[in-house]
Amino acid sequence: MADAHTQTLGLIGDPVDHSLSPLLHGNLIHVLGVNCCYHAFRVRREELAEAVAGLRALGVRGVNVTIPHKEAVLPLLDEVSPEARAVGAVNVIVNQQGRLLGYNSDTAGVELALRRRGVDVRGCKVVVLGAGGAARAVVWVLAQMGAAAVHIHSRTPTRGERLASELAESCGKTELTVFPWEEAALARSLEGAALLVNATPCGMWPRHHESPVTGNFLGKGIVVFDLVYNPLHTRLLREAAGRGAQTIPGLDMLIFQAVEAMALWTGRRPAKEGEFMTEMRTFLSKELQGYA
Ligand code: NAP
Repeated sequence: MADAHTQTLGLIGDPVDHSLSPLLHGNLIHVLGVNCCYHAFRVRREELAEAVAGLRALGVRGVNVTIPHKEAVLPLLDEVSPEARAVGAVNVIVNQQGRLLGYNSDTAGVELALRRRGVDVRGCKVVVLGAGGAARAVVWVLAQMGAAAVHIHSRTPTRGERLASELAESCGKTELTVFPWEEAALARSLEGAALLVNATPCGMWPRHHESPVTGNFLGKGIVVFDLVYNPLHTRLLREAAGRGAQTIPGLDMLIFQAVEAMALWTGRRPAKEGEFMTEMRTFLSKELQGYA
């Protein structure tokens, strides 16, 4: 039950009515036993500045930021973390005694989803599909993890080129190259690749019968990470697993980015991470059945 010390957390975006964040954070608040509540706030584009000022005025402890505000919110904050600056998007705001600090917890989500499954990309070639916001976080993390080369396949080449040029400096020695969205080019990129990451919505419900890659190109020796989390087992992941590839579901990233956000707000993480992940995967995959 809320009392005078309850800290307010939440989500700002538009739309927010189908977000899983209130469920995820509600569970985290329960597991951690912290005195917080979490609300979804619909904030229209033209109301963003007022909403951000309201966080300060009301002493809201922190919020997640989602579409369409992840980029627009940067200039409204007092400080932006290096990873959020590099990726160009903030998805977590922490209110530190009136100073608003912006972070990007998708980067931690990507890194933990890979590391906890034992994926090491040091010196490896990785293939990333897509050049949107999620792809930016993925490419940046892969570079920090020491990938030698990232092949970015983008349906809109100019978007891919922009991603590669804007991230080049923060990606250091990792070579970023953009390729067209063509089967032959993709087949060449996948030869000898250690990891394939789908950072497009291709395969997402209700178009769950689609896959960005035909199973023929996948096999043992490659890890396939699909950021799409609805359905839990996308066609891409099912076909890859059928050919002996290790697979990582997008739900892992979703849960890890929430854990990271909660750690930024409260300083607390679930003591038994493995148990928490298993419970949340089961709980959320039930919630996702029939989820639009
Ligand atoms: P975004 O900014 O809209 O970018 C989407 C990218 O995918 C663009 O490069 C777009 O190309 C490309 N694309 C879209 N449909 C495609 C198709 N049918 N075939 C080929 N390319 C296609 O979206 P985002 O925020 O990066 O999100 C991408 C996906 O990641 C979504 O499914 C989202 O739900 C998922 N995601 C998951 C998590 C998680 O925690 N698991 C976190 C963030 C995002 P164009 O530029 O040509 O349109």
